[in-house]
Amino acid sequence: MQDIINRLKKEIFVCDGAMGTMLQKHGLSAGECPEYWNLTKAEKLVLVHREYIEAGADIIITNTFGGNRLKLQKYNLEGKLKEINISSVANAKLAVEQSGRPVMVAGDIGPTGSLLEPLGFLSVKEAYEAFKEQVLALAEGGADLLIIETMIALEETVAAVRAAKENSKLPVIACMTFDVTPNKDVRTVMGVDVPTMVTELTKAGADILGSNCGNGIEQMVEVIRAIRANTDKPLIAEANAGMPKLKDGIIYYDGTPEVVASFTGALIETGANIVGGCCGTTPAHIKEIKNQIERRKNK
Ligand SMILES: [Zn+2]
Repeated sequence: MQDIINRLKKEIFVCDGAMGTMLQKHGLSAGECPEYWNLTKAEKLVLVHREYIEAGADIIITNTFGGNRLKLQKYNLEGKLKEINISSVANAKLAVEQSGRPVMVAGDIGPTGSLLEPLGFLSVKEAYEAFKEQVLALAEGGADLLIIETMIALEETVAAVRAAKENSKLPVIACMTFDVTPNKDVRTVMGVDVPTMVTELTKAGADILGSNCGNGIEQMVEVIRAIRANTDKPLIAEANAGMPKLKDGIIYYDGTPEVVASFTGALIETGANIVGGCCGTTPAHIKEIKNQIERRKNK
């Protein structure tokens, strides 16, 4: 546990890029449960993980973003929850083993997809129990750390971090998704600001803080700057490949690997210790981010 935290004091790690984008490339259709592929198309998962490792990722993330009970229920797959989460770690670990590189496997935890009370019907306790169930499966599978991502609601994120810390011994990364306004106000769509996020997630026990997704790469630099102004903890930045665009009813991202990676230096200078990618990023983006980091080292 202290190992990664200590290493992050002197090293910059590269995390992988989008999973959904890659699964779509491999034939995942709309309406299909991406997490079920851990069981039904394991060889494709291993392939995607391998591509990210070969691109230079030091940390790869399991295909379990929607691997909690509340999300799996929508596909009537809640009975397979444990199996899906455990096999996701096995797929990632197999890719690591095949590569022969010491890559860490982060168990991915996404939102429940339901609003918490009083805005919605889900209680904090129910959210906590859903996260706990997934944490236990990912830990049993042998994940090296856990990453909580794409969170916009404070209480839900706190419940996820607490569930992760109280039910595993793994280091926990907690990321929220922020939008940056032109006058540089940084908030999630649910209105959570950066100082509140840092205070509450630190109190809940998060070891690494950061942000993923959001409304642009330049904007991610501002998000990291704002988080760094509030904490000394290691930080992770995973921006999308630019802004989402719509063509023929399909959302895509047109940020090239070169453009996306050109912000790597700015992200590190503003405080990021881990740089990866979110929606629309591919192994080509991660490879270019890795190149940028190597170039900085050799300066
Ligand atoms: Zn994203």
